[in-house]
Amino acid sequence: MAEQGIAPEATALELLAILKREYPGAKCGLEFTTPFELLIATILSSQCTDERVNVVTRRLFSKAATPEAMLFLGEGQLREEIRECGLFRNKARNIMGTCQMLLTEYGGEVPTDFADLVTLPGVGRKTANVVLSNAWGKPAFPVDTHVFRVSNRIGLVTGKTPEEVEDGWTLLLPPEDWYDAHHVLIHHGRSVCKARAPACEKCVIRDMCTTGKGAL
Ligand code: SF4
Repeated sequence: MAEQGIAPEATALELLAILKREYPGAKCGLEFTTPFELLIATILSSQCTDERVNVVTRRLFSKAATPEAMLFLGEGQLREEIRECGLFRNKARNIMGTCQMLLTEYGGEVPTDFADLVTLPGVGRKTANVVLSNAWGKPAFPVDTHVFRVSNRIGLVTGKTPEEVEDGWTLLLPPEDWYDAHHVLIHHGRSVCKARAPACEKCVIRDMCTTGKGAL
């Protein structure tokens, strides 16, 4: 909740400044060298840790790092390559569909706008925003499970859906801050404001957090 008399935009900027000091250089935890690799890694990251995805993609991308190569690998082989990521049957099917569509609809390139990205199989709002922000450097605010949980606990931006939380932050913060903001919220959610037990006693933004103040 914003302090009385202080505009929520100013509170959001202050919050961001504190978290940026706490997590300097926070960035995407997925390893990639091209927009295509990030797209595939993000599809694989659903209900899987970045660390596990990175292990899988290091191996996978050494064999297939383009849509053509992925299709050549084949769905059966892809399933085996990504088995450790969970939901591997769905993910393999979606990746094959995505690679096919990249070649037939987008000249083999990863689209650079949101409306095109979400036409790809397995690519929803969060994945599209991850690619836009991290691969294309465009202003986008992906809301994953950490951003969603931490935001609702802080109480400055709340929402019943990830889209509502995205709308809240993008209204409060200028586009040039969206990249840092969503990354520091992810880092905070992983290291302090964890799903099961938030460590409010050592949280640097406790004084600004509805949940943290209530826990005092
Ligand atoms: S005070 Fe607690 S609930 Fe609030 S952001 Fe920090 S860890 Fe999360």
